[in-house]
Amino acid sequence: MDRLIYLDNAATTKVKPEVVDAMLPYFTEEFGNPSSVYSFAAKNKTVIEKAREMIAASINAKPKEIYFTGGGSESDNMAIKGIARAYKDKGRHIITSKIEHHAVLHSLRALEKDGYEVTYLDVDEYGVVKLDELKKAIRDDTILITIMFANNEIGTIEPVKEIGQIAKEHGILFHTDAVQAYTQVPIDVKELNIDLMSASGHKINGPKGIGYIYIKSGINIEPLIDGGAQERNRRAGTENVPAIVGLKKAAELAIANMEERVAYESELRDYLIKSIMERIPYTRLNGDRHNRLPNNTNFCFQFIEGETLLIMLDMEGICGSSGSACTSGSLDPSHVLKAIGLPDEIAHGSLRLTLSEETTKEDIDYVVDKLDKIVARLRQMSTMYADFIDSKTGDVR
Ligand SMILES: *Cc1c(COP(=O)(O)O)cnc(C)c1O
Repeated sequence: MDRLIYLDNAATTKVKPEVVDAMLPYFTEEFGNPSSVYSFAAKNKTVIEKAREMIAASINAKPKEIYFTGGGSESDNMAIKGIARAYKDKGRHIITSKIEHHAVLHSLRALEKDGYEVTYLDVDEYGVVKLDELKKAIRDDTILITIMFANNEIGTIEPVKEIGQIAKEHGILFHTDAVQAYTQVPIDVKELNIDLMSASGHKINGPKGIGYIYIKSGINIEPLIDGGAQERNRRAGTENVPAIVGLKKAAELAIANMEERVAYESELRDYLIKSIMERIPYTRLNGDRHNRLPNNTNFCFQFIEGETLLIMLDMEGICGSSGSACTSGSLDPSHVLKAIGLPDEIAHGSLRLTLSEETTKEDIDYVVDKLDKIVARLRQMSTMYADFIDSKTGDVR
């Protein structure tokens, strides 16, 4: 198969050539450990601080509020476990939603084993957290609210500013996993009342294994990784200079063209949604129609198995995902699709297609055409579909 249409940009993205170019010298000539005394290596400290300044400015934070980590999962773990441990004498209750990434949910599960209590908020049919339920869940011993900025499966953007406001009014810290939202949605941590925020390099055309956490100054946090004094004693380990440089370059490029990119991708996204909904019957769009990430689409095709659909799409050179990459391989339907109220048999037929700025209208037409044929073929083989059609027409087989 010559043609490759990559529509899984929520799982990971291609590193831009400019990003690779920016990184390369730091593997070879500029390999020094930033903590060394001699200027050859110590100048890499300045390189890191420049990156920190750029990243901070991109979310209206101060440089000293940015800490580089090994990626989105580490940032989520650090925020949740680090705050829980630092504020355990104040309280041991945390509020989250049912649709968080596993990096958040499984961090919380680990804390539950240590005696912390967690409230998992319901979401509405579009995946939006219910603010009145959030208010009701707050207790005297609540120390943290952790709710994602935008969902990685269905693309729904949460009311972050309102959540932050509620947290602030109650003197509770607010962490948001912005791995999917960063550079897709404008983020001003001050205006949005965000206390801690996670982001990742490889979701924004940067390298894997690098990310950052924003921690508002004045907040206490226990480190996750103990060791040297790097990252102001909050994240030990020799700094990954090439990856930090790559993250900075990727963020710079993404912020520079954000407006056009978002406009382009949203238009293409809407075209994909419209084409699929018009062409393929018994299809459901998951997530909020408008209030969603510019590159996210997520559908359920009734009477279809998502995994089978992915394999058939793969044979046509199309990369998509069913649920999230972390859950595929297991037979449980996505916890996100469950939380928006889909019955298991519908949730099993889900397909997420996430676009990039390299996706073209021709790609979309090709994908919709193949999808239409594949879905029709799979339904022809489905006894459930046959029964359904019979029941509709009143025919007796
Ligand atoms: C990808 C992703 C993560 C994990 O980030 P990594 O850098 O892969 O560890 C966390 N949260 C969300 C919402 C994601 O999409």
